Amino acid sequence: MITAVNSTRRSTSATPLALFHRGYHLHRANSSPGARFGRPSPPQRYAATLPPHPTRIPPTSTTPLTFPHQNFSLSTTKFSQPSSSQFDDLVEVNIRGEKVKIHTGLFINNEFIPAVSGKTFPTINPATGEVICQVHEADKADVDAAVAAAKTAFKSVWKKTDGAERGRLLYKLADLVERDIKFLADLEALDNGKKAHIAYGDVEGVVGCLRYYAGWADKIEGKTMMDTSKFNFTRHEPFGVVGQIIPWNFPLGMLSWKFGPALATGNVIVLKSSEKTPLSALAVAALVREAGFPPGVVNILSGYGPTAGQAIVAHPEILKVAFTGSTRTGRSLVETSAKTNLKKVTLELGGKSPSIVFEDADLEEAAKWTNMGIFFNHGQVCCAGSRVYVQESVAAKFMEKFKQLTSEQKLGDQFDDTGDQGPLVDEVQFNNVLKFIEVGKKEGKLIAGGGRLGSKGYFIQPTVFTDVPEDARIMKEEIFGPVVCVNTFKTEEEILEKANSSPYGLAAAVFTKDLNRAIRVSSELEAGMVWMGGYKESGWGRELGAYGLDNYLQIKSVKINLSMTL
Ligand code: NAD
Repeated sequence: MITAVNSTRRSTSATPLALFHRGYHLHRANSSPGARFGRPSPPQRYAATLPPHPTRIPPTSTTPLTFPHQNFSLSTTKFSQPSSSQFDDLVEVNIRGEKVKIHTGLFINNEFIPAVSGKTFPTINPATGEVICQVHEADKADVDAAVAAAKTAFKSVWKKTDGAERGRLLYKLADLVERDIKFLADLEALDNGKKAHIAYGDVEGVVGCLRYYAGWADKIEGKTMMDTSKFNFTRHEPFGVVGQIIPWNFPLGMLSWKFGPALATGNVIVLKSSEKTPLSALAVAALVREAGFPPGVVNILSGYGPTAGQAIVAHPEILKVAFTGSTRTGRSLVETSAKTNLKKVTLELGGKSPSIVFEDADLEEAAKWTNMGIFFNHGQVCCAGSRVYVQESVAAKFMEKFKQLTSEQKLGDQFDDTGDQGPLVDEVQFNNVLKFIEVGKKEGKLIAGGGRLGSKGYFIQPTVFTDVPEDARIMKEEIFGPVVCVNTFKTEEEILEKANSSPYGLAAAVFTKDLNRAIRVSSELEAGMVWMGGYKESGWGRELGAYGLDNYLQIKSVKINLSMTL
C-alpha cells in the first residue's frame, strides 16, 4: 500500500497533480498492456496516429486581436517591439532525422525579439554533448522590457478581462498544446535528455494542468460579512506582474504549474526558463500568441540565473515571484526580496525523500514503486525517493527484487522508444552526480551501478548503495541523479526518527497493509506531500489544486458604512 502523506496539505486526486502523475506513470501503466507496474513503456498512443512535427510558422501578431464578450479590441501594432517580419529567430534543428524550425528569440509582447545585448547562448543535446542551437540571452534590460510590457498589458487589458475569457484562453492554449503534443514532447526530450515517450506523458500533464486552471478562472470568489452597521466583503485580487523562475527537470510541466494559477487569477507573467532547457518554453510561447492572449500578458525569457533570474527577483515592479529550483537558489531569492521590495516569494525546492517499506507490505509492489521512485526521470525529480528504508526482517527478499529491477533499467538515447532512462541533463549535472557516487563508495556499500555508461553523452548507471551511515553525505544531500541509498530499520519509532532527520521535508512514501499504521506514520512524517510543496527546507507555499491559486491572490477587505454617523 502506498500512502499519500499529508494529503490534507495538498491537492486531492481530482487535481492536476494527479493528472500530471497519472501522465507519468499510472495512466500509462494502465493503458499500455504489458507495461511494467508504474513504469511507462513506449505507449502505442505515442507512436501511432499523431500528426507530424509542425514546421509551420505561427501567425504573426499584426492581425488585430478581438476579445469576445468585451468592448475593446487590441492591435499589436501599437506596441513598439519589432515584428516577426523584421527579426527572424527561427532556426532549423534536427529531430528524429527531420528538419524542424524552432523559435530562439525572447518572447515579449507576443513577439520574438533579440536580446538588447545581442548575446546568445548554446543549448546542448545531452545524449551527444553537441550544440542543438543558440538561443537569445536575456539580461536585466530585457527583464525591464518584459516587465514594462506586462505592466501595460495588465493595466490596459488583462485587468479588465473577465474570468470566463481568461478561462477560454487557457482552454485554447491547452488545446494547442494537445495538438502539438508530439512535437513538444520531442523537443523537450531533445533538450532535456529524457525519453520522448516519457516527455509525451509530461505534456499530457501540461494539458491537464492548463485545463484544470482554466476551469478556476471564473470561480475566484471573496467573502461577504454582514453586521448592522457595515457591509464587508473581500476581493481576491491579482498582484499584477508576477515573476516565475523554473528548473530544467520538467520544463513544460513546471511552466504549466506556474502559468495555470497565475493566468486564471488574472496576473501577467514574466517567466524565465532554465538555461539548460530553453526550447520547449519558446515553442509554447508561439502557442500563447496563437491562442490569442493579448500581447504582454505572457512574456518568456531564456537566460541565466545570476543575470536574468536575479533581475526578475530584484525588480521593483514585480510583487510576487514563484520559484522552483534548488534550496541554495531559493535562499538567495529570499535575501534579494528582503533587500529590495519584500516581494512575496513562493518556493518549491529540493528534497531527500524517504520511502519506508514495512514487513507486511506487498514486497514485489514495494520494490517496483521504490525503484521507479528513484529512477524515474533518471533521479532528476525533486520528490525522488532517494532514501529507501526496509524493515530488517524482509530486507534480503526486498533487496533481491530491487537489485533485479535496477539491473533491468535500460539506458538509451531520447528517441529510442524502449527503456526509461536517458542521459542526465548536462555536463555539470553529470559531474556532480559522479562526484557523489565517488563519495558514496567511501561512505557505503555499492551494490549496483557506480559510474558513467558509455563514452558519449551524460549517461549514468542506476546506482544503489546499502549500509550507509545516517550522517553520510549521500544520505543527507540531494544528489538529483539515479543514485539511491537503501538502509534497514527495526521499529516504527526508529524509522520515524530516521525519516525525519533531514533538513528537507518534501515528500515521503509508506508501504504497509496496516491502515492504522499507514495513518499513524503518515501523520508523523515531516513532509509536505507525496509530491511537491515542502516542509522545512523544501519550500514555502503549495502548488497545484485550489491551494495553488492562493499564491497568486492578495485579499482586499472592503467595508461599506451602512448606518454609522459621526
Ligand atoms: P537551480 O536553483 O540551479 O535553478 C533553478 C532556476 O533558478 C533556473 O531557472 C536558474 O536559472 C534560476 N536561478 C539560478 N540562480 C538564480 C539566482 N541567483 N536568481 C534567480 N534565479 C536563479 O535548480 P535546478 O538545478 O534548475 O533544478 C534542480 C533543483 O530544483 C533541485 O534541487 C530540485 O529538487 C528542485 N526542484 C524542486 C521542485 C519542487 O516542486 N519542489 C520541482 C522541480 C525541481
